Amino acid sequence: MFDKILVANRGEIALRVIRACREMGIRSVAVHSTADSDAMHVRMADESVCIGPPPGTASYLSMPAIISACEITGAQAIHPGYGFLSENANFVQIVEDHGLTFIGPTAEHIRVMGDKITAKDTMKNLGVPCVPGSDGGVPDVATARTVAAEIGYPVIIKATAGGGGRGMKLAKSEGEIETAFRTARSEAKAAFGNDEVYIEKYLGNPRHIEIQVFGDGKGNAVHLGERDCSLQRRHQKVFEEAPGPVITQELRDRIGKVCADAVAKINYIGAGTIEFLYEDGEFYFIEMNTRLQVEHPVTEAVFGVDLVREQIRVAAGEPMEFKQEDLKVKGHSIEVRINAEKLPNFSPSPGRISQYHAPGGLGVRMDSAIYDGYRIPPYYDSLIGKLIVYGRDRPEALARLKRALGELIVDGVDTTVPLFHGLLEEEDILTGDYNIHWLEKWLAENLG
Ligand code: ADP
Repeated sequence: MFDKILVANRGEIALRVIRACREMGIRSVAVHSTADSDAMHVRMADESVCIGPPPGTASYLSMPAIISACEITGAQAIHPGYGFLSENANFVQIVEDHGLTFIGPTAEHIRVMGDKITAKDTMKNLGVPCVPGSDGGVPDVATARTVAAEIGYPVIIKATAGGGGRGMKLAKSEGEIETAFRTARSEAKAAFGNDEVYIEKYLGNPRHIEIQVFGDGKGNAVHLGERDCSLQRRHQKVFEEAPGPVITQELRDRIGKVCADAVAKINYIGAGTIEFLYEDGEFYFIEMNTRLQVEHPVTEAVFGVDLVREQIRVAAGEPMEFKQEDLKVKGHSIEVRINAEKLPNFSPSPGRISQYHAPGGLGVRMDSAIYDGYRIPPYYDSLIGKLIVYGRDRPEALARLKRALGELIVDGVDTTVPLFHGLLEEEDILTGDYNIHWLEKWLAENLG
């Protein structure tokens, strides 16, 4: 096992990893930008190293600075969290070239899954059901027109390098295909430096269901059921739950096995998430994330596991602590993402937190790196906390969420908390009757 791990991230996820390290008796090293000298992850780690000025590109994304920090502190492994360098195959290569361990999958797996076209191709070959669409990239408008006519409108044009809900354009009919294609391409070029796009059938009313998988890199893999992340704004998740309100044990076993078998076959190591759209009883693969997800705590709650501890264990060459037959869903868990944003436009609201009180009590977990007097810097994403609740069943989890939200105090900045108070008054949320479009519609009707 490692003696010391460097955490190449900030905010709540850095704390999440530092906490796992402490429980495992492993020393932790925080890295931080000059804007984060007062950040909680710096205070909570055993050691810290300043790695550069505020912009992410000059600090949390600076590979030389992070590698140097490892060498200075003697850290043997790097946990990347999510975002930043977590899905950067070049970084993994560099980490390994320096004799260090990357806590995550191999560079090759990250490369394959990081490109959505090769990811889809690979998954298809592994027997995972995919959204009908183009065979690989679509080079020009004429091809786009032909492909779209074949699969039938509406279609969605997506960037192969896409992520974070960006680089997607809908074409409802042939009249829209040219503009959609050209816009998607130029946006993809601007956002990702890669203008390759592909086309998929646009599903009308799907739910976003993702399967948590975990591999030991030696051909063994398990699944830890699903999370329903259908409540999205601009393709970004805001509310996630496990188990999915419409997923039966039979469906879970079926799609879970497909996913576990697929990652076992490629000797996948560590945590991964296989994302699907689910409509009319069918699953359609959209992408795989080769890292820990923001919403991993809901899975931890219903399976009673510690995914970060497990990531660290397999990275150190130890066997997984769980077997498929031991993994049974128990109870219900919901996570809401609390962002420092001002409604109704969700505009960033950085600033000083004058008062913070975290909710607590039975079945409540608050993952956050904020504190009284903390100044949220304007340079990074606006997630300031995740409130995760657990109950014996969905109604209990919902009641607990409402109770916990009522206890939470974040003063001095605007947050997305009022959104969740509103959602918990909605019959559709209480019954679990929602899909990927539900929230946008609700926002337009209630906040628009
Ligand atoms: P990203 O990597 O940017 O998150 P994804 O491929 O995971 O992109 O898609 C994000 C979201 O976009 C999905 O959860 C879904 O809401 C919507 N989406 C993606 N593909 C389709 C599709 N073929 N039909 C309908 N909605 C889609």
